[in-house]
Amino acid sequence: MKIVFLGTSGAVPSKERGMPAIAIHAKEWLLFDCGEGTQRQMMTYGIPYGSIKAIFLSHSHLDHTLGIYGLLKTFELSLPHIKLPVFLPEGMTLKNKNVVQTQIKEGKLYENNEFEIYAFKVKHSENSHGFIIKEKDRVKFNEQKAHSLGIKGKMFKEIEEKGFLKIGKNKIKLKEVTWIKKGRKIVYSGDTVYCKELIKASKDADILIHESTFFGEQEKEAKEFMHSSLQDAVKVAEKAKVKKLILTHISPRYAKEDELLEQAIKQFNNSIIAKDGLVIDL
Ligand SMILES: [Zn+2]
Ligand SMILES: [Zn+2]
Repeated sequence: MKIVFLGTSGAVPSKERGMPAIAIHAKEWLLFDCGEGTQRQMMTYGIPYGSIKAIFLSHSHLDHTLGIYGLLKTFELSLPHIKLPVFLPEGMTLKNKNVVQTQIKEGKLYENNEFEIYAFKVKHSENSHGFIIKEKDRVKFNEQKAHSLGIKGKMFKEIEEKGFLKIGKNKIKLKEVTWIKKGRKIVYSGDTVYCKELIKASKDADILIHESTFFGEQEKEAKEFMHSSLQDAVKVAEKAKVKKLILTHISPRYAKEDELLEQAIKQFNNSIIAKDGLVIDL
């Protein structure tokens, strides 16, 4: 899996930070939010339009959606045959022949062979959602044990399909010779005030991408504007026991990245501040 941060500012852009957009490679490229200027950010950071297989918009605020109109126009001009799945908040519609629109409801939205995308409710504007990008769990053979019990060649397929296998008088259950490889999990908060739903969705995530519009002791301000502060993000990360916290949606009022990072690390060991062009492999 790979995450490319295309835009990491909140509300308005700055010279250093573009508007919210995150590309995540989960067997294929998926785009989460599409702020103004996302097309150019994609060019700059090497994500070709044609490689995007679905778009997910967390809520209808313009800082997260304005870029989709231009991006879809480009799709129309350069890839007219493509029907692109776009998942958007209730109340928003796109007038474009190239898209298959689905209004976001809680639960599973999309899947491919290896990954599933879920939406969960967060508290911000009406119909605001966060997303879970979950790799499917996989059954893996304990090859040594399987071989020692006489399983070989086509028998692997057979036991996988039937759930058991007979070798002579021996009945071997699939469970005896396999183990479950847990799939990786990324969670994106979208915009939200501190909420329980996000903690639940983030449980044991490998990576939590959390908005952090406010830094410092600004929990009151964060609540008032239905956003999160650094403290809120850290609380969610701790309660959900996530492995890594990435802070994004950074207000342009905070220009000194080093100071932000220092503050964040002090509170949550494995945390970083996203910046445009940041690439995370996992
Ligand atoms: Zn926003
Ligand atoms: Zn918003």
